[in-house]
Amino acid sequence: MSSTPVLPPAPKVYIRTFGCQMNDYDSGKMRAQLARDGWQSTDDPDEADLVLLNTCSIREKAVEKMHSALGEFRRQKREGRPLTLGVTGCVAQLEGDALLERYHNVDLVLGPDGVPHVRRLVAEARSGQRVLDTDFLDLETYPFVTDLDPDAAKKVGAFVTIQKGCDNRCTYCIVPTTRGDEASRPSAEILDEVRRLVETAGVQEITLIGQNVNSYGLKVPHEKNFAELLYAVAEVPGVRRIRYTTSHPRDMGDDVVQAYQDLPQLTSHLHLPVQSGNNKVLRRMKRFYTRERFLDIVERLRQARPDLVLTTDFIVGFPGETEAQFLDTMSLLDEVGFVSSFSFKYSPRPGTPALRLKEGHDDAVSGERLTRLQKRQRELSLAWTRSHEGQVVEVLIEGLSRHDEGVICGRTSANLMVNFPGSASEVGSWAKVRVTRGFTHTARGERVAAPVEIRARRA
Ligand code: SF4
Repeated sequence: MSSTPVLPPAPKVYIRTFGCQMNDYDSGKMRAQLARDGWQSTDDPDEADLVLLNTCSIREKAVEKMHSALGEFRRQKREGRPLTLGVTGCVAQLEGDALLERYHNVDLVLGPDGVPHVRRLVAEARSGQRVLDTDFLDLETYPFVTDLDPDAAKKVGAFVTIQKGCDNRCTYCIVPTTRGDEASRPSAEILDEVRRLVETAGVQEITLIGQNVNSYGLKVPHEKNFAELLYAVAEVPGVRRIRYTTSHPRDMGDDVVQAYQDLPQLTSHLHLPVQSGNNKVLRRMKRFYTRERFLDIVERLRQARPDLVLTTDFIVGFPGETEAQFLDTMSLLDEVGFVSSFSFKYSPRPGTPALRLKEGHDDAVSGERLTRLQKRQRELSLAWTRSHEGQVVEVLIEGLSRHDEGVICGRTSANLMVNFPGSASEVGSWAKVRVTRGFTHTARGERVAAPVEIRARRA
């Protein structure tokens, strides 16, 4: 009697992502490449054979979070759990072999440029070697990973990287140290990835990502620039919405402003980090624009797209920031009417030029300023969501509410998330919803009679 051979279970990888969209994207690319070697991705760290912590070093808090997560997995290894443990991303780049020296049960340390080689590096770590890869790759031949994240089909939107690294040197920022100089990905490769995401995963919303997307292509002869790339992505059949992040105000050209008039796929929401509303602080940050220039860009964007809403990033308590300079940031918040923002206290990062500024910073003062700024932001955010009450908006349904059974959530072009009754089968569809109540960050609504357009999702 012949018996069916029992195959060993597929090994499982758990990746915990800290930080920004670039890290989310890198995690997806690592999952995609490891899948080629039979790795199955899991959301449960307890069942994983391989744990990768994809780390962020932009602020001290993110680094602390990573070290505490690492401590838990190291404890499990000490107690005998068979596990390959790796640190990837920006902290890996920054701390490099110090991580391996300090933590004897960490097997693998790889910086962002190690992502294209993750299969080989994981195989080496699994064979008992302790692996370190923090070399930057050649910019001209940088191998952007083309495999699609196996989780892409679960989502209605997808990130697509268009560049890596950054050539700016904002004085507070550690990214140029951890991710190296900027390299633009060939547009043909970007468009191919967009097409495959639409055709094979049913994705409808594309978010182009990079550290400074507006400078895309500028260093490469005969390559499209960022505005041309936007027009080309909009031509891919099935792309219903285009977002992008992060952009730098200095490089926001007239051609991108024009795209807001020409391309309905480009959403009515733009994240444009300003950081400060005071020109002296902006100069010390080396942002290379002024408050006036920023306001002028906002004005031109609004002329091109009257319903455009803006969100931004703020850093408060930058070294030497006076109360009057901080009040310039507060007044800019009102003048632009940002509907939301990410705001942080200045966090000194190793090796950044801001550390050499002779003016110091006071954490307590920064904390108090941050509280004031966030309070005003919450008021503006709430006023904006409430301004939708009674209006009918169109949303792309993204998923189930995390809090209420029988409730689904959909996002407007302007990035307002609306929760309303519905079922999981509607994810990926479009709906017309009347907003009944606005909250600080989201809204509640009810479906109006207009039919829902159901779009097939691919498994
Ligand atoms: S543009 Fe400035 S803040 Fe953004 S990644 Fe580059 S250096 Fe950092």
